[in-house]
Amino acid sequence: MTDPGLPHPQPTRSFWLIDNPLSNHRTTVSLPCCADIVILGAGLTGASVAYHLTKLDTEGKSILCLDARAAAGGASGRCGGNMTNSTYRYFKYDMKKYGLDIAKKIRVFELETVLALKKLIKDNRWEKKVELREGGTVHSYLTDLEFNEAIENIEEMRNQGLGHELIIWDRVETVKKTHGEDFVGAVMNPNGSQLSPSKLTIQLLQLALKSGYFNLQTYTPVQSITPFNSETASANIDISSLKGQPRWVINTNRGSVICNTVIHCTNGYCAHLLPQLRDCIVPVRGQMMITIPSSIPRLWPFGISINRGYIYGWQRNDNMVILGGARGEAGPELEYNCSDDSDINTAIDRKLRQFLPTHFGDMVKSPTKIMMTWAGIMGMSNDILNLPWVGPIPGSKWDGQFISAGYHGHGMPRAFHCAKAVAQMVLGSKPDVPGWMDEMLPSKKSGPTMKDWARKEDLYKIMRIEDGLAEMERRKEEEDSEAFIETDVKAKL
Ligand SMILES: Cc1cc2nc3c(=O)[nH]c(=O)nc-3n(C[C@H](O)[C@H](O)[C@H](O)COP(=O)(O)OP(=O)(O)OC[C@H]3O[C@@H](n4cnc5c(N)ncnc54)[C@H](O)[C@@H]3O)c2cc1C
Repeated sequence: MTDPGLPHPQPTRSFWLIDNPLSNHRTTVSLPCCADIVILGAGLTGASVAYHLTKLDTEGKSILCLDARAAAGGASGRCGGNMTNSTYRYFKYDMKKYGLDIAKKIRVFELETVLALKKLIKDNRWEKKVELREGGTVHSYLTDLEFNEAIENIEEMRNQGLGHELIIWDRVETVKKTHGEDFVGAVMNPNGSQLSPSKLTIQLLQLALKSGYFNLQTYTPVQSITPFNSETASANIDISSLKGQPRWVINTNRGSVICNTVIHCTNGYCAHLLPQLRDCIVPVRGQMMITIPSSIPRLWPFGISINRGYIYGWQRNDNMVILGGARGEAGPELEYNCSDDSDINTAIDRKLRQFLPTHFGDMVKSPTKIMMTWAGIMGMSNDILNLPWVGPIPGSKWDGQFISAGYHGHGMPRAFHCAKAVAQMVLGSKPDVPGWMDEMLPSKKSGPTMKDWARKEDLYKIMRIEDGLAEMERRKEEEDSEAFIETDVKAKL
């Protein structure tokens, strides 16, 4: 994998970033010369880390957050805004391959993260500010094969004491509720929700800023991190305010900052400053679009996806429809190893534009009128379970550096509690969040698995409707086979 580099200085324009009160925010005019804790990235993760740190007892440590772009200018200001926890999809597969404990914890972790975020939103009365929608999320199916697989997985989940909240719709109910004539059935997850991802990020940052010891500096790309060395450090820099040892120098185009602790919340770009992660967290370009107001009638009060998330979307209260996905249209490359969100993929754009007239033709007459279309960069985790990387960077030469990244395109139900866990670890505690798995620690990772082309090809098949069915059959055969054993991969780090 190549170096993802720094975020592109001229990204495509996202709808979510039109109105961003922290766009150019700099808490202090110049960069402080030192800070106890430096958070890299002001997306949902960086904002959540800042929020949790200011809530926990940091003993007055100063916290600085640096972002190459506007606050929320990365994936958190460009994503689908679908905050939906994983439930039944691949439950049987995960259970057989990784064991019941892990299969359960993956679901518990995400559900509890979504519930915690919703509680925070309600406790602070942010529902309108972040445009929270709690109508649930519906997975609708185009084939009996897929729908039956969904039902089998739900049954297994329920046998294991989970998934009782899920509601299965037959064809009649699905057509009535989704207005999609092609669907044979659907599954409603009532915990699924949608919101403005940038506004949530901004609210978290604003809360952290109120603490008085959090400094946010936008448009400050971090170019390198070097070990602090008292001999080479400039003698006139006063580091007496640092609570701990000076360990790292953060170098930016606006000067350098000496600090004790670094937390990488740089998502798909993290391997630029941590080259050892180049095969582990891979930048992948995703794409979204939004229809112009009043061009589409009321379709759904819930989030919707087809073919296991191949295309997903939701409709805001003003009836604007947000659509994303369709990466399969990009060919087997699937936009992997792409960290350039200054442009979009035209084949994906075409597919997304066809989505509403194709499946909701009675309600939506073509062509779909699009207000904006944009791209963003996800951080795909090559971990065997596709879990994020959360905790200290292994190796004594990295002492004081931490990471929370690699949500595999699924950060809304993961980032907030991953950020809490990393904040706890930074302050010397063990992670204490429901469903925490030590498998998220970078030191416990069993190595990259998607590095090899074959695994990427697998994903490609899942990503295309026409190949999805063949892939399902292959997986089923694999599940039934006696030779179904956990892949043995060497530790990367
Ligand atoms: C098109 C798209 C659609 C998506 N849809 C969904 C969805 O519907 N539901 C869902 O759950 N997830 C979705 N995701 C994934 C979700 O957006 C991410 O998982 C989540 O936003 C990650 O948050 P983050 O803070 O870790 O990363 P980001 O929001 O990307 O923040 C990282 C920040 O780091 C900054 N940065 C990077 N390198 C440097 C550097 N060297 N110096 C300074 N700053 C730096 C960047 O500018 C950026 O602001 C989608 C992602 C994309 C791109």
